This record gives sequence, C-alpha cells and structure tokens, in this order.
Amino acid sequence: GAAPAPSPAAAAPHQDPSLPVADRVDDLLSRMSTADKIGQMTQIEKDALVPQSDLAAYRIGSVLSGGDSTVSPNNARTWADTYDSLQRTALGTPLGIPVIYGIDAVHGHNAVRGATVFPHNIGLGATRDPELVRRVGRAVAEEVAGTGIDWSFAPCLCVARDDRWGRTYESFGEKPELPTSMATFVTGMQGGTLGADPASVLATAKHYLGDGGTTGGVDQGNTHLSEAELRAVHLPPFQEAVRRGVGSVMLSYSSWNGVRSHAHEYLVTDVLKGELGFTGFVVSDWAAVDQLDGRSGFTAAEITTAVNAGVDMVMVPHDYERFLTLLHGEVSAGRIPMARVDDANRRILTKKFQLGLFERPFTDRSLTPGVGSAEHRALAREAVRASQVLLKNDGGVLPLAKDARLFVAGKSADDIGNQSGGWTVGWQGRSGPVTEGTTVLQGIRAAVTDPSRVTYDRYGNGIDGGYAAAVAVVGETPYAEGRGDRPGSMGLDQEDLQTLARLKASGVPVVVVLVSGRPLDIAAHLPDWKALLAAWLPGTEGSGVSDVLFGDHAPTGKLPVTWMRSASQQPVNDGDGKTPLFPYGHGLSYDTAPDPGPTPTPVPRACAAQFRLTSSWSGGHQAEVTVENTGTGPLTGWSVEWDLGGSAVTHLWNGTLSVAQGRATVRNSPHNGALPPDATTSFGFTANGTASTPAVQCTG
Ligand code: BGC
Repeated sequence: GAAPAPSPAAAAPHQDPSLPVADRVDDLLSRMSTADKIGQMTQIEKDALVPQSDLAAYRIGSVLSGGDSTVSPNNARTWADTYDSLQRTALGTPLGIPVIYGIDAVHGHNAVRGATVFPHNIGLGATRDPELVRRVGRAVAEEVAGTGIDWSFAPCLCVARDDRWGRTYESFGEKPELPTSMATFVTGMQGGTLGADPASVLATAKHYLGDGGTTGGVDQGNTHLSEAELRAVHLPPFQEAVRRGVGSVMLSYSSWNGVRSHAHEYLVTDVLKGELGFTGFVVSDWAAVDQLDGRSGFTAAEITTAVNAGVDMVMVPHDYERFLTLLHGEVSAGRIPMARVDDANRRILTKKFQLGLFERPFTDRSLTPGVGSAEHRALAREAVRASQVLLKNDGGVLPLAKDARLFVAGKSADDIGNQSGGWTVGWQGRSGPVTEGTTVLQGIRAAVTDPSRVTYDRYGNGIDGGYAAAVAVVGETPYAEGRGDRPGSMGLDQEDLQTLARLKASGVPVVVVLVSGRPLDIAAHLPDWKALLAAWLPGTEGSGVSDVLFGDHAPTGKLPVTWMRSASQQPVNDGDGKTPLFPYGHGLSYDTAPDPGPTPTPVPRACAAQFRLTSSWSGGHQAEVTVENTGTGPLTGWSVEWDLGGSAVTHLWNGTLSVAQGRATVRNSPHNGALPPDATTSFGFTANGTASTPAVQCTG
C-alpha cells in the first residue's frame, strides 16, 4: 500500500519498522490515554458506525462485518474501497493507529459476491488432507487480502459431538484428532510468519471452548463434561492452533458446567493464555458480553467480568457509546486493573504491528483480481471432489457413463445457494443464485459427451423408464446457527420425498447426491437408492461433484462424523453401544482394474496366547510363536527381539522362513543371560523384503 506521509512524529520509535515489535508496542502504549486504550479493545459492526467519524472520535481499534453486513455493489473493489475509507479515518487520529478489520471468511471470502466458496469444514474434514486444507486457507487469505481485510473469524475448530447442533457443518469432524489435523488452515491463512507476505491474514481459532459439546446439541448451550473429558475432546485443536501461532481466539457463547466461556477466567486466562502459552488476543463473540446476565444490554458488571476473565477485545457490536462509557468507568474505578487493560492492548497492538498494518495500512490492489480467480476455483473443485464420500454403490451404478441418457432432479441440482449453505452472501445463506459458480447440474452437463442426453426437472416430473440412471440432488437448505433448516427434524423434506418417489416409480436406478451440512435420517429410504454420495456443502464449484459421479476422480472421502441410523440415536457417538448406519471413517471407492503393481505384502497373524517359553535354563531362554499367514504371498523371513525391560538392552535375531500359507511355528535362538520378569519378546515377519504387521508382542 501507500507509504504514510512523513510527519514530525515519524521519528517516534513505534513508527520505526526496524525496531523489535515489543519495543514499538511499549513506545506506543506509553503515548496512549485511557480513552485510546479502551478504544483498542472495542470492535464495532461496520454498518453500526454512524457517522463514520465516530471511529476516530472514539479511537475505535477494530471494525467487523458480521454475517449480514455487505457493501453496494457487492464486489471485491467496493469492499476494498470501504476498507480503505475506514482506514483513512483511523489514521486521521493523533496517534494514527490503524484499525484491524475482521470478517467471517469461513469457507472462502463468502460475504463477497463472486468470491470462491469452498466446501464447508465438514467436507474438508472428509478429505482427511491437512495439506489441501492449508492450501485452501492460503487461497481464502489471498481473497480476503484482495479486499484489504486483515482478519478472518476462521477456522472453527469445534468438535461437533451431536449432529442436532446447527453448526455441525462448521466442524471438521467429531473426533478431536480430525479438527486438530486441520489446524493447518491457520498456517495457510496467516502464512508461515504473520505479516511476512501481503496475503497474510490473521486467523481465529473459535469457539473456545466446548461449543460442539453442548447437551442435546443446543447452540450456545451448556457443555456438561468433567475437566478431563473437556480437555481430551475439545482442547487439542486449540492447542495445535496455538502451536501454529494463531493470532486470535474467539470465545464460545456456550457454558462449561454452567459457567459461560466469556466469564471463565480459568479457561481463558489460566489454560489458554497460561498453560497453552497463547500470546495473541482473545475476542468475544457477537454481543456475547452483553448477554452474560441473560438479558441484552450492557451492564458494567458484565464488562468487568469478561475483561477480567481475559477478553481482550469485545465484539460490541452495536451499542458502542454505552459500552465505552461503562468500560471507562470500570477502569477508572479500578475494578478493571490498568495492568489488564495494558495487557489487552499489548496483545492487540502486537498483532497489528506483526501484520504490517502500520507500514501497509491500505489494500494491496494487486491482490484484488485474486477474488474468485480461476486458480482458486480450480483448488475449490479439487477440494470438492476430495470431500465426496461414497456411502453406497450397489451393482456399480457409479461411475456414470458419459454417453448415457441421464435424468437429473432435486431442489439442489441447480442451486448455488443450496450447495453453498449458510455464511454465503448473508449470514443464513439462501437458496437461489446468490453468487457466481457452477451448479451440480451445470457440472454434469459439462462432463457428458452430449448435453442433450441429460434431462432436468427439479421435481422429477416427466421421467420414464428410458434413462440409465436418475441423479437426485436433495438435502438441506441453507442455515447458519441454531438447529438447522427445519428445527426438530433431520429427515428429508416433503419436496425431496415427493421427487424421490417420482424417480422410484419410473423403475430407473436412482443415485442420490445428498447436499447437507450433516448426516440426515435417511435409513428408511436407502433401500430405494442404488447409490448414495454425501456431497456435504460443496460451495460454488459443483463440477467437483460431477468429477466423482463420472469417475474422472474416484471417491476418496471418509466420513468425518458417524452416520446415525435414526435421529433418535443422537448423539450417536457417545460410546453407548449404538449401531450407526455408517461408521466414522466409512467411504467407498470405485472398483479399479487389477493393479499390476507391487505384490501385496502378506499379513501374518499370530497372538501372544500362542507364545510359550520353550526352555529356560540357568542363564538362558528360548521362546516360540505360532504364526498364521493370511496374506497372499509367502513369508520369507522372521526376526525376534528380546527387550530386557528396565535395562533397555535389546537383542535381535533374524532367520529365514518359508510359510506359503497356513501356520508355522517359529522358535528363536536362545537368549543367553538373565531374563527379568518384565522382559518382552517381539516376533516380526517379512515377505519380499517388506516388514509385515503386526509384530507379535510376547511378555516373558
Ligand atoms: C458467530 C461467530 C461469528 C460472529 C461474527 C457470531 O454469531 O457465533 O462465529 O464469527 O457472529 O459474525
């Protein structure tokens, strides 16, 4: 961006980019009044900032665009102009501290019409590909930076434990290790070092802590867990995000055992900032502080509770005059210590300096054409196809032949809005052509040899027996927070059921593409469908779905959540002996031609029960184990290792072996020497030079 004009204050240490950030922060802080400091801790919705000069008058530190905020016309250039205009106002204050602007770019720069919309997190979780997710994070950052915006409220690292939760689709998956592995998104968005390149955008790990663990999947509800369970299930993704240097953490509306996260000094200050060593800043969720007492409207007590618990920046977002008056009063009265205010400011200002906002406050216009670029759309298409999970494929109905007569139906077959879901050009998202992209139907038509052989009717009217297959694209309509598109129901809606009934009546094999943010209650209908493909909420690149339907790419996605047999099983993953319809990790692929590649490695099977110490004499021992070769080629070698416990001395012997199939007993060379009671013996087997697994562990 443009360099700031030289001024007499240019000599001030905080304006010197060659000094360490900590020194610049200290210098700036020493020049700030209490009003300047409480302004930095305040974040206001852009549309609530009337007149815009209030930004300077109140020394506001941050602006956001919430889910429904937009600009007119809604395009990348106007967003950039809006950003630069706000920044100019902020720089006009005596200290000229730049504003940091945040937005929910949760699956692409999704507030901007024409931006690339990627699959929602649940689909990215199905890819099991952290490096792909890092690349997605980078592309999103490039689009966000292309409009000047500095900060995104992503990734959501929630661990969704009950699919009734209306934010399940914002979760990478139900097992802690899956969201943890996808914290690569943080690295993609921020870049290796925050601010080291012009597309570096501050990331947010949200919502801390336990947002996906509430009883009954109630949004903003109560997470009733022991501390050990909370730490085991919900903390690991945040630990990983902190390890990756995430710049901000947003707190959860939810409570842990009855105490709101926004009031939880132990979780925020002791665990996050202390134990985890988080050095970035903590932002509240939208109006979460003024709801602490269960009523809307700020009270001084709510503000003091939240700030003293460790909230550094309050997402106000509207009533900023009242908020600032109360915060000022609490600080002046000493109920919020100045040390806490200074700590919050240090954290916020450090990120502003690291991002390079003082040196490059305005939009880098060379990045603007990246919004919705062909390169980003190609990446999104790659992510879509990697996220498809094939759940059923009877008789190999998929992949579809490109020259077949096909009938396409369903309310989401030709609907960018439905396939993008919530948080797409509006908080709740909506059906219809909300933004630019390729629908699943358009993807199908582009893939086939002769588009005139593809018939489309949304409702399935006019189908006859002359088609090779009918493709029904059905599922949920967009929603953001709360309990889904039809609270209380996780089944298909009436329109979908009627469409599917028409297709079934034709006798044509039906392939269902389910567009949804979570598993739906479909078990009763599954026998009617030849194939079922979970497409999740794929975003703007519907061709990624057709890539899989026609076998240009075989499906590789794996379920990021357990698929319930019926809604009454929720929560299905509570370890209560429930039999799901499809387990976590399930996902089929297409049968491939016999692979002439490397000979498969045989897998021996043996167990410790078959182990015995065959001889034991003064100072020497010998053991044997029976191995069963269940593999496809001969086992050719064996090895055995004595681990003599505490002394950590190991002895290894190798031998040749010939077990074409069936069982054989292997006896090791004698171990000469004392055998302590905790000694273990492991047998390993080899085939064609490759180690077979598992090794057999035997305790002496
Ligand atoms: C959501 C957050 C979001 C914030 C700002 C809240 O309603 O819970 O996830 O970042 O709004 O739009």
